[in-house]
Amino acid sequence: MKLFRKILIANRGEIAIRVIRACKELDIRTVAIFSDIERDALHARLADEAICIGPASPSQSYLNIPAILSAAELTDSEAIHPGYGFLSENSHFAEACATSGITFIGPSPESIKIGGDKSKARQVMKRRGIPVVPGSDGPVSTEEMAVRIAKKIEFPVILKASAGGGGRGMRVVGEEKELSQAFHMAQRESFSAFGSGELYLEKYLPSIRHVEVQIISDGKGNIVHLGERDCSIQRRHQKLIEEAPSPLSTEKFRKRIGELAVRAARAMKYKNVGTIEFIVDEDQTIYFMEVNTRVQVEHPVTEELTGIDIIKEQINIAAGLLLSLKQNQIKFSGHAIECRINAEDPERFIPSPGRISLFLPPGGPGVRVDTAAYTGWTVPSQYDSMIAKLIVHAKNREDAIAKMKTALDGFVIEGIKTTIPFHKKILNHLDFVMGDFDTHFLERINEQGNTGKSPS
Ligand code: ADP
Repeated sequence: MKLFRKILIANRGEIAIRVIRACKELDIRTVAIFSDIERDALHARLADEAICIGPASPSQSYLNIPAILSAAELTDSEAIHPGYGFLSENSHFAEACATSGITFIGPSPESIKIGGDKSKARQVMKRRGIPVVPGSDGPVSTEEMAVRIAKKIEFPVILKASAGGGGRGMRVVGEEKELSQAFHMAQRESFSAFGSGELYLEKYLPSIRHVEVQIISDGKGNIVHLGERDCSIQRRHQKLIEEAPSPLSTEKFRKRIGELAVRAARAMKYKNVGTIEFIVDEDQTIYFMEVNTRVQVEHPVTEELTGIDIIKEQINIAAGLLLSLKQNQIKFSGHAIECRINAEDPERFIPSPGRISLFLPPGGPGVRVDTAAYTGWTVPSQYDSMIAKLIVHAKNREDAIAKMKTALDGFVIEGIKTTIPFHKKILNHLDFVMGDFDTHFLERINEQGNTGKSPS
């Protein structure tokens, strides 16, 4: 059975290429979109067809819903894959696709809405008996309300934006006298970043790990999880290194967190692939944090561990196929690590766009590079600074670390600055090697004090 004849990929960079490759293997034709500064971009070259949809500014190109839908109609595309970022979590876009008779490769607009309203998602989960961090039941509309709840659950607390993402609109509040200022700052930041100032509140847990679970659901009652990923190595709440399994995981832990994730997906009547993010505290208590209703940057570590192609699963489910996998058929083998290579100054973490004069990625068994970069390509300043994902897979964590260090040493990128030196520093740190870290790891190892500030 032919799944789709033609898919338009509403994205750019490495994820667009990742989707194009999956489509080619499935014998589906592809359409790339590009902004007018990305005529030479690899994703536009690798697709069967490519259409310029507007100027460099994302709002006029990769976020331009009418232009993207016109491109899909013009090319007679049956479905749109949104990748991650851009329009991938925009429920209006998913609705607009449906109205135009185009399949959106992702969950329903209703699921996207729940995922995009973190306070609501907490409530949905709490009602279903899935543990959430103690906090507010729904939004906190006034400062007085925030004080009342904070006193009840006891300081420190964390104010978060309901519409939040990427760590923005978050403030840790240590004591009552700091709350007023933090409330207004978080509200303002959230409003300017997301167009909504709605906040909610949680107890701030001082030492946690970020552990998330990949799920796949066909929307017809079949849901499996593909195990957990540990994403605790973060800088300003942004993930830098991800690995699977989590160094703290045991078979029992995986079963427990996996079952919680499947229950969470069921509670949302979820369809397609998604990620349930959890906080795990020092006692290994697991709390639901949020749902990501799209494919994630770090999906390759799970693919390496399970041998399952997550993008193909997305396409299969969007085409209406039933999930062919049963939970007991999913096997986890070895250990996988991903380093996000950003075009950034590794000392100051400011973007370093420009022309790449030499790009020589590493290789060898168990080494995967997902990238859209090449020698002579100019990293644009208008988009995300991540230019490559380096993923390794080995039989255990120790070997995976050794493989990653070798791959990082062999990765040649000249002409711009990258985060490779920073990754090497982490990979050589004893606490990382021992698997002994929480989300504050980077703050602690950075003597200059200019990375990973806590959300204050
Ligand atoms: P975003 O959607 O902006 O990424 P998240 O809710 O996923 O925000 O939180 C991002 C990070 O903030 C987490 O990975 C964790 O490091 C930290 N964090 C979130 N909630 C808490 C909490 N209640 N206590 C301590 N740290 C937290």
